[in-house]
Amino acid sequence: MTMKDHVLIFDTTLRDGEQALPASLSVGQKIRIARQLAQLKVDVIEAGFPISSPGDFVSVETIAKEIKGPIICGLARAVEKDILACAAATKPAPRPRIHTFLGTSTIHREKKLRRTQEECLAMVAAAVKLARSKCPDVQFSAEDAGRTERDFLCKVVETAIKHGASTVNIPDTVGYTTPEIFAAIIDDLMNRVPNVDQAVIAVHCHNDLGLATSNSITAVKHGARQVECTINGIGERAGNAALEEVVMILNVRRDHFGVTCGIDTTEIMRASKLVREVCSMPVQPNKAVVGSNAFAHSSGIHQDGVLKARSTYEIMTPQSIGLLENKMNLTSRSGSHMVRNRLQSLGYAEKDLDLETFYPKFKALADKKGTVYDDDLVALMEAPTLEDIGDTYKLEYLNVTGGMGVIPTATVRIACEGKVKQEAASGDGVVDATTKAIDRVVGFPIELKDYHLDAISEGREAQGRVKIVAVASEGTFTGVGTSTDIVEASAKAYMDVVNKIARMRKYAPKLGGKRARAPL
Ligand SMILES: [Zn+2]
Repeated sequence: MTMKDHVLIFDTTLRDGEQALPASLSVGQKIRIARQLAQLKVDVIEAGFPISSPGDFVSVETIAKEIKGPIICGLARAVEKDILACAAATKPAPRPRIHTFLGTSTIHREKKLRRTQEECLAMVAAAVKLARSKCPDVQFSAEDAGRTERDFLCKVVETAIKHGASTVNIPDTVGYTTPEIFAAIIDDLMNRVPNVDQAVIAVHCHNDLGLATSNSITAVKHGARQVECTINGIGERAGNAALEEVVMILNVRRDHFGVTCGIDTTEIMRASKLVREVCSMPVQPNKAVVGSNAFAHSSGIHQDGVLKARSTYEIMTPQSIGLLENKMNLTSRSGSHMVRNRLQSLGYAEKDLDLETFYPKFKALADKKGTVYDDDLVALMEAPTLEDIGDTYKLEYLNVTGGMGVIPTATVRIACEGKVKQEAASGDGVVDATTKAIDRVVGFPIELKDYHLDAISEGREAQGRVKIVAVASEGTFTGVGTSTDIVEASAKAYMDVVNKIARMRKYAPKLGGKRARAPL
């Protein structure tokens, strides 16, 4: 196999995926995902959009400093201040990349940029040249390429390559194209752009019509050698092409595609679960490759076949994506070294583990639950706990009364900067009563937009995870709370929001205004 037969996997979970979440991830959360992406051996990590906010800049810079292995890439519009910020943020990486982009379709040129074709070509040339003067590895994207006139797209690609872009990306920004049409676009570029052999052609497909994966792999068949994707397919609107789907198609159907990629597929499940947990974005059970039913056979005929020979109804093994069967589960009798080993096998680095504080939490959960599954461990590691440093408000006591024929009431006691306040409230249910009682103590005007309860592990004593989305005058916040008691989980999630608002009130003036969103 030569480089010609190798497809680069460009992961944009931390840029395209992250920008679609209701609230930004913290630097620590992004580092954790980036570390797992490095374990997965992605070729490029798009770590963020540095100019969009001071927080994004710091995230990209920290990932560039700490993550070894993949190329670390940042996004920049085709303007000087974006490119300079991106160059500065990615600079600490051993292999940095600047990814600059410009809208090229008629609608983008006329409605958004108000530029002629010639002016756009000049902007492409200037942006790529400036980026190349700051960084040896430059990628250019023709935003909305799927709706760009073919002749003009050819000129854009030629211009970007001529001025030093070594990767040119063809995004289907709005998820409008179909496999045959996309194949024709890639064929045209391969046949009509004179210097196309001097760059890697990349694709970035959105899933608005459910075609992101199909479009991406069809482009590979027609010569694209970099696929942009995200874990679990998260991203703007209906999301991006899912990394696990693209990679497993290339692996399972190597007979058809004849190309390789460098991904360690046994890390896929771990990456999928980490992203679900950190981003509070569950995947549907029937999701290809990583859904909880993806390897479950329910029909009797299928089960019988699989028992006789797995390959009758199984085109890939659960082991190939890192889904291990029959493994030992942890209980309250498991020692701290076993907990440490399991956490490390789940992708946590030694330096992230503070067993002295974590182990008692593990024991408390194991005593309540009996068996502690991997999902529980990850939830326990990722859940914002009330003891977290930096929380202004601490819930010290919660008592609720509910049931048939009883008015639901809640009493809470909350500590804040040395003072303790207690309030009680009644509501439509115990959760409603609890949030009202917390409101009385804290006094923030919070509007609850979404409340979601999930069982995150197996068994009767499964942990419940409550995820809420709330709107306050400071913006939109997500809160997550985990407990074997759903009222307690709800209270924790609500307190998570309260503390995020408190943090925003303290620090927001220093961090500047709201962040911009990248449109790719
Ligand atoms: Zn995108």
